[in-house]
Amino acid sequence: MTEHGTGREARLGVFGGTFDPPHLGHLAAARAARDAFGLDHVLFVVAAEPWQKEGTVASPAVDRFEMVRLLVAGEPDMSASSVEIERGGPSYTIDTLETLARPDGRRWRPPQMRDVAPHLYLVLGSDAAARLQTWHRSAEIADLARIVVVSRDGGENPTPALPDGWLHVRMPAVPVSSTDVRDELGRGLKSHLVPTPVLDYVRRHRLYGSNPASPDG
Ligand code: ATP
Ligand code: MG
Repeated sequence: MTEHGTGREARLGVFGGTFDPPHLGHLAAARAARDAFGLDHVLFVVAAEPWQKEGTVASPAVDRFEMVRLLVAGEPDMSASSVEIERGGPSYTIDTLETLARPDGRRWRPPQMRDVAPHLYLVLGSDAAARLQTWHRSAEIADLARIVVVSRDGGENPTPALPDGWLHVRMPAVPVSSTDVRDELGRGLKSHLVPTPVLDYVRRHRLYGSNPASPDG
């Protein structure tokens, strides 16, 4: 299928995560996939119930969604998606891909992709990619989306051996994880790999045991 006016099909990146909280590593991964494979838009899909992270208490989905909105606010070709939050229940990627592919799922797509179904590109960090086989109905995922693995320079994740047909891009490492950020904020430190609007949200909503007393919060 061809998107009117562009001469080629539209490409939609689907980047899922818990985003508790979102950070600059997430943004860099989405940019790397977008730039390497000509993605027209990347949806940051916020997991409602991250079923693989049971035992670690996630912040409320609405807070994680709002923080992702703040993270991508300056990026015209990226947006936060609440498709899994509105669906509720365990957040299975296969369900989200099926929704985005269906005609009646068009409202979850960016406006320029409502009339013609875009080609889907599932963007995964290499650690997430290594666990893909454990996901719900994982064998069907590659039927619905191209799989893009983003690996980080610098050793912590050596380039994985990828199944045929998977796409791969390297990015300069952004040494941060949401776990690190939660630890830093809980100890009263400021994380420089989280943009200020996200940090302000964290403080205002007293997430991660952060101190709400700040000059503007
Ligand atoms: P946690 O520490 O709780 O696991 P996280 O920082 O890994 O959090 P997730 O929400 O679990 O964040 O990850 C969402 C996606 O972002 C995954 O595909 C993951 O591989 C990728 N990702 C996470 N951190 C980085 C980073 N620093 N650079 C590139 N990709 C990342
Ligand atoms: Mg992770």
